[in-house]
Amino acid sequence: MSEHDERTFVMVKPDGVQRGLIGDVVSRFEQRGLKLVGAKFMQIDEDLAHEHYGEHEGKPFFEGLVEFITSGPVFAMVWEGADATRQVRKMMGETDPADSAPGTIRGDFGLDLGHNVIHGSDHEDEGANEREIALFFDEDELVDWDLDAASWVYEDE
Ligand code: GDP
Ligand code: MG
Repeated sequence: MSEHDERTFVMVKPDGVQRGLIGDVVSRFEQRGLKLVGAKFMQIDEDLAHEHYGEHEGKPFFEGLVEFITSGPVFAMVWEGADATRQVRKMMGETDPADSAPGTIRGDFGLDLGHNVIHGSDHEDEGANEREIALFFDEDELVDWDLDAASWVYEDE
């Protein structure tokens, strides 16, 4: 079981919420076989935005990024499954939707780098998934449950 329990942080950004894409995004991860263990419709404040995007502080796009991510509600989620962080990133596409393959979330739903619909923890940044989960969710907001379909998703479950 343990190799199927990696968790990653994902969020539909304000553009995705306004465009009615929450359901499509959730569907893709459900259909892939990942398990939803937390979800929250929320407004990000200035402090949380600075903390979440701290690695980009000082870059030319940083202030615009903070303004955008705090401009309307987001849908924050935690998804669990085998290699979840990397698999979610693959499903998201590249950072720039213009470089993202059709079939990926950014490649299907976006055209603009600044409005790229979705955030997912960086799999190349060790521990980013756990840090971001802890930043957005209290432990008691994450639900411990068995996905019955897991025995069909995984050969050895
Ligand atoms: P991600 O992990 O794929 O989301 O990409 P990054 O961590 O590199 O950047 C965080 C977010 O900042 C991206 O999702 C974009 O929305 C935004 N961003 C990154 N680079 C640029 C840029 O050069 N210009 C603008 N306007 N936004 C950017
Ligand atoms: Mg990133």
